[in-house]
Amino acid sequence: MRKSTIMRAVASASFLVLSWVAYTQTQPAKLTITKVKEDLYNIEGDGGNVAALVTSEGVILIDDKYERDHDQIVAAVKSVTPQPIKYIFSTHHHEDHSGGNVQFVSSAIVVSTAQARKNIVEHKQSNAAANVTPAQFVYTQEASVFLGGKEVRARHFGRGHTNGDAIVYIPSLKTIHTGDLMAGVSPLIDYPGGGSVVEWTKTLDGALGMDFDTVIPGHGKVTDKAGLKTYRDNVEKLRNRVAGLVKSGKSQDEVGKVMTEEYKWAPGSLNMQWSLPGLMTELK
Ligand SMILES: [Zn+2]
Repeated sequence: MRKSTIMRAVASASFLVLSWVAYTQTQPAKLTITKVKEDLYNIEGDGGNVAALVTSEGVILIDDKYERDHDQIVAAVKSVTPQPIKYIFSTHHHEDHSGGNVQFVSSAIVVSTAQARKNIVEHKQSNAAANVTPAQFVYTQEASVFLGGKEVRARHFGRGHTNGDAIVYIPSLKTIHTGDLMAGVSPLIDYPGGGSVVEWTKTLDGALGMDFDTVIPGHGKVTDKAGLKTYRDNVEKLRNRVAGLVKSGKSQDEVGKVMTEEYKWAPGSLNMQWSLPGLMTELK
């Protein structure tokens, strides 16, 4: 290519990138709703996965993304049922899962662990909006809602992604929503939010003891029990890898470089900010 052609290509590529950034900053991403099982849907496209269980007496959501996604969540639910949204189970306090609470609390009951509520009240997520709103109903171990003959059961199995994570279970459909105890390819351990890579696998072992065949992860594609087991084993591999590096005397910067190479943790990413310093301390 001649130099002027290259310059033109670079200029138009830069324009496209800048236009995309401007577009995505003003427009919430388009959400889509997909059927998972009879009367159970998954809403994707921005923030965490939102599960919607339709019953004859109303809809139960699991998580509610960011505040900006509220209208699209309501529209997506309306596209499959005329029933109103009555309950929202939160898997944890992060804004991409609980940010919608501020819009829903006037018309629905939000249910979370007592610890997730505390984390929101204390603004434990440093980069969250100031108006993230806590649940009205909390539990420490387990809570169920029965609506239209169906049960949704939330249980705190222990620490992992944060110190207030819940696994939300729909027994009749043998389906769980894991929140970010399963999300993406490698775990984000939110140490400032009470997370723990040592406890994470024990927490998932508890969850794996339940009777289910379908898994809606915090982010990413719907999977099965074997998919969750693989994720759990990968958390253990990561922990063993980092523990080996820490015990051989590697510095935080050196461990960070390995994580970038082997786990694609980008410099400056949330993994580097929230997970790396805590890993160095917990795995000493
Ligand atoms: Zn999270």
